[in-house]
Amino acid sequence: MSALSVNAARLWSDHMRMAEIGPSPEGGSNRPALSALDAEARALLTAWCFALGLTEERDALANTFYRRAGSAALPAVAFGSHLDTVPTGGRFDGVSGVLAGLEVIRVLAEAGITTKAPLELVNWTNEEGTRFRPAMMGSRVHAGDMTLAEALSVRDDDGISVAQALAAHNLAGPAAPAPRRWAAFLELHIEQGAILESTGQDIGIVTGTVQARYFQITVTGTPSHAGPMSMDRRRDSLAAAAEVILASERVGIAGEPGGRSSTTWITNSPNARGAVANITRLHSDVRHEDPARAAEMQTDFLGAVAEIATRRQLRIDVDPYTTFGPVRFDAKIANTLRTAAQARQMTTRDMLAVAGHDAVMAARVCPAAMLFVPSVGGISHNPGEYSTPEQLAKGAQVLLDAVVALSA
Ligand SMILES: [Zn+2]
Repeated sequence: MSALSVNAARLWSDHMRMAEIGPSPEGGSNRPALSALDAEARALLTAWCFALGLTEERDALANTFYRRAGSAALPAVAFGSHLDTVPTGGRFDGVSGVLAGLEVIRVLAEAGITTKAPLELVNWTNEEGTRFRPAMMGSRVHAGDMTLAEALSVRDDDGISVAQALAAHNLAGPAAPAPRRWAAFLELHIEQGAILESTGQDIGIVTGTVQARYFQITVTGTPSHAGPMSMDRRRDSLAAAAEVILASERVGIAGEPGGRSSTTWITNSPNARGAVANITRLHSDVRHEDPARAAEMQTDFLGAVAEIATRRQLRIDVDPYTTFGPVRFDAKIANTLRTAAQARQMTTRDMLAVAGHDAVMAARVCPAAMLFVPSVGGISHNPGEYSTPEQLAKGAQVLLDAVVALSA
């Protein structure tokens, strides 16, 4: 345990200052990746970092690395998260990881301490994947899971490419994204669930992620008139889709506590009053910490879907187009976080992330781990997202102590 303490009031005021950029009417944040607002948020972070004497390096996707020199020629200890938000975002998702990292460096600078290993604070580009798919784009390309050319050519709903958005705000640096010389990558993040709150624990030590399996589903029926066509002869894709949605929910309920499943997206055609729908598309997923159970959930779900298609005499095509995880974080780094929290008399709980995070991508190229701070009510991707100043400060303190331990 270091003798250093984070400044809770400063960490909180940094959050509130950042939330002035892209405020949503309901009190949250709306800062789409590579927008003018994202550029403004990045400029604020850069100003804060320059005031601390850090150097800035950007790669061609605008992943940004703020570096504090160490006293020895060692690999850097890196930490950070993301500043972009979903349209209905809160003030903490991603932001807290960046600002807790900034607070770590502020405390060290104030104390006049130079760590042996250099430190790098990271702001990853487009973690959310809302404007430009896929999620975790910056860290994904950094880790070699997607090429730079592929990422640059991705277009948003208005037809603007990542390359154009980068150019519009002069955000890109010269070098292609690539793994850096890092001893570790740590990410503080809000939990986005309610486990820590319900158990009253201070800090989640994230040991890995669940496995997620994603399905694009197309229900094909027969178009017909909503009046004259008798009920037994119609092949209604929307009614069948309703059953698929409920089956998806049932599989998640049966899969708890380790399992989850959702149907999160739907389009319907012709989506016309007076016409029985004939093409309905859905996006569903199943998630479980145990990959074998995730596979069973998939089998249960697809079995239910096949039964619906047979009974309703229509066609349901399922494309299980991608699987994600499970990822195991580095046990030694996770233990450094756990030890740091316990040394401060904080209670900890080992847990798995049920969402994707930049650390998941970083874990492909260096030892990585995450810590969670509680989310009040488990609310996230919502303007009501909230963690208290004290909860954030506890997390930042653990991050500080772990960074000091790893860079000593
Ligand atoms: Zn996030």
